[in-house]
Amino acid sequence: FNTERFGQHILKNPQTAQTIVEKANLRPTDKVLEVGPGTGNLTVRILETAKHVTAVEMDPRMAAELTKRVQGKPEQRKLEIIIGDFVKADLPYFDVCISNTPYQISSPLVFRLLSHRPLPRVCILMFQREFALRLTAKSGSELWSRLSANVQLYAKVDHIMNVGKANFRPPPKVESSVVRIAPLDPPPPVKFEEFDGMNRILFSRRNKTVHGNFLAKGVIPMLEKNWRTWCAESNQMVDDNMDMKAKIEKVLDETGNTESRAAKMDVDDLLKLLAAFHEVGIHFA
Ligand code: SAM
Repeated sequence: FNTERFGQHILKNPQTAQTIVEKANLRPTDKVLEVGPGTGNLTVRILETAKHVTAVEMDPRMAAELTKRVQGKPEQRKLEIIIGDFVKADLPYFDVCISNTPYQISSPLVFRLLSHRPLPRVCILMFQREFALRLTAKSGSELWSRLSANVQLYAKVDHIMNVGKANFRPPPKVESSVVRIAPLDPPPPVKFEEFDGMNRILFSRRNKTVHGNFLAKGVIPMLEKNWRTWCAESNQMVDDNMDMKAKIEKVLDETGNTESRAAKMDVDDLLKLLAAFHEVGIHFA
C-alpha cells in the first residue's frame, strides 16, 4: 500500500473530525455507512451516537488499527468492518453515509450513494475543493457543469466547510471541502442514462448554443440509431424519410431552446427539454 495511491491522509484535527460528524445530525436509531475509516478518527465519534456503523476499508492494516481502537469497548459491538474496495463491496442498509475517502473515488462514491436503495437520508462527504465546488455550483456560475446537473437532479447539495491541508497527516497536495448531499426522496422519475446522455451533448461546450452542440460530429447519427432502436422496441414503423436534424430543430424551436446555452440552463430547464425530446421519440441512451 502506498499513501498516494490509497490517499491515506489521516484527519488529525479533532475539531474538524467532530464538526464533520455533527453535521450529519445523527439519531440514536441511525445505521451509518463509513467509507475509508482509516485509523477511525471519524468512526469513534460516529459510534458515540449511532446505533450501528459499517465501515468499508480497503487497507487491512488500517482495518486492524481500527479494530484495536474499539477492542474491549462497548462500541465494539456496534461496529462492523468490511475489508475491501467500496466500489465493489456489497452494501448493507444505511440511513447516513459519512466519508473522507481518497479523491480518486469521488465520482463513483457520489453516484453509488445516489443509486442505492433505499436512499440514505443524508451523506456528509469530504472532497477535493474543486470537485466540491462543481457539485454545489448553481446554473449560470462558472463551475456549473454536467456533474453539477447530474447530481442536483437527484439531491440537494450544500457546501459545509473548507478544510485546509494542515488538518491532515501527511498533508495532501490539494485543499478539501466537506459537502452535504441530501437525496430527493422519492427521486425524480427520470432515467439517469437519458438525462446524462443529453447533458453529454449540451455540456460538451457549455457556452456554445444547444443547437450548435447538436450539430457536432457524430451526434445526429447516434440519435438516429437510438431512434431506430426506440421504434423497434415500441413497434413503430421506421420512417425512412425521417430527418433527425429537422426533428431536433423543431423541438428546440418549440421549447424556445435554439439559442439556449447549457451554462445558463438549470435542472428544471434540462428536464423540460428532455421531456420534449422524449415526446417525439428522441432518446439519448
Ligand atoms: N477517514 C479517515 C480519516 O478521516 O482520518 C481516513 C482518511 S484517508 C484520506 C482514506 C482512507 O480510505 C484510507 O484509510 C484508505 O486506505 C481508504 N481507502 C482508499 N480507497 C478505498 C476504497 N476504494 N474503498 C475503501 N476504502 C478505501
